[in-house]
Amino acid sequence: KLEAIGSPSYTKRILRQYGLNMKKSLGQNFLMDQNILRNIVAAAELTQEKAALEIGPGIGALTEVLAQKAGKVVALEIDQRLLPILGQTLAPYPQAKVLHQDVLKADLHQLFREEFATWGKVSVVANLPYYITTPIIMKLLEAKLPLEHIVVMLQKEVAERMTAKPGSKNYGSLSIAIQYYCETELVATVPKTVFVPQPNVDSAVMKLTMRNAPAVEVSDVDLYFEVVQSSFAQRRKTIANNLAQRFFGKDNKEQLLAILESSGIEPSRRGETLTMEEFAGLTEQLKPFIT
Ligand code: SAM
Repeated sequence: KLEAIGSPSYTKRILRQYGLNMKKSLGQNFLMDQNILRNIVAAAELTQEKAALEIGPGIGALTEVLAQKAGKVVALEIDQRLLPILGQTLAPYPQAKVLHQDVLKADLHQLFREEFATWGKVSVVANLPYYITTPIIMKLLEAKLPLEHIVVMLQKEVAERMTAKPGSKNYGSLSIAIQYYCETELVATVPKTVFVPQPNVDSAVMKLTMRNAPAVEVSDVDLYFEVVQSSFAQRRKTIANNLAQRFFGKDNKEQLLAILESSGIEPSRRGETLTMEEFAGLTEQLKPFIT
């Protein structure tokens, strides 16, 4: 039986062998806990008939566990220094392929055409570089790729905001931006101590399951997100005050109050209490007056 790449002894040996000093600027915090690695991969529900896309393989700890479950794994790594290391650590896994790419610059449609054309829906599984967590997830969601699950390690606070439900203190425009596209689940919280080097924040594993259609139907998606964002502009203000500030002059507040009433929304409510459906109804009512 091979020694796991993500075991503390193997990881430390590889880091010493290559004299690798990890770059904080690239969010390099490597996972050294085989149980957590296995739980991340289990949440993605992979089989030999499925493929996975990994972002930031590091020295290959998660890639290895993915390659043991999925039929194909493609991993994008920005740091050139890690490529020879990955060539060594992943040598036993021909089903895993590493590409030297920046995920934020990558043409993901081309990547999917070249690597995943015959694989059906793909799952993204990653221990994310935390300095670009939200841009990565939004890029994946907005690209409308054939995705099934996105299972990622990320900062606990960000995971709590992305998975928050209406009425909770973490619920805001980020929750809605994510939940418009997918169902969310917090799989586990993870202590700093399982990483080398240890990050400054606590972490969590989050699972997103892509919806077949967006959570709500709206005639103007950009306006929907603009209404959502404006409603949370100042969290302690009422929905009426936030929307008045953004869309109506001081003198036109009567009109806004009428629109809120016909949408069935009390003007004294705060944005954090509105469901995605309520925001959708409100957007349709507002539209003729502000576009
Ligand atoms: N998967 C490994 C693990 O779990 O131990 C490493 C995870 S580490 C938190 C994040 C990885 O993402 C690093 O290997 C880093 O070099 C890489 N990375 C950072 N920015 C990236 C980018 N823009 N595109 C692709 N990979 C990136």
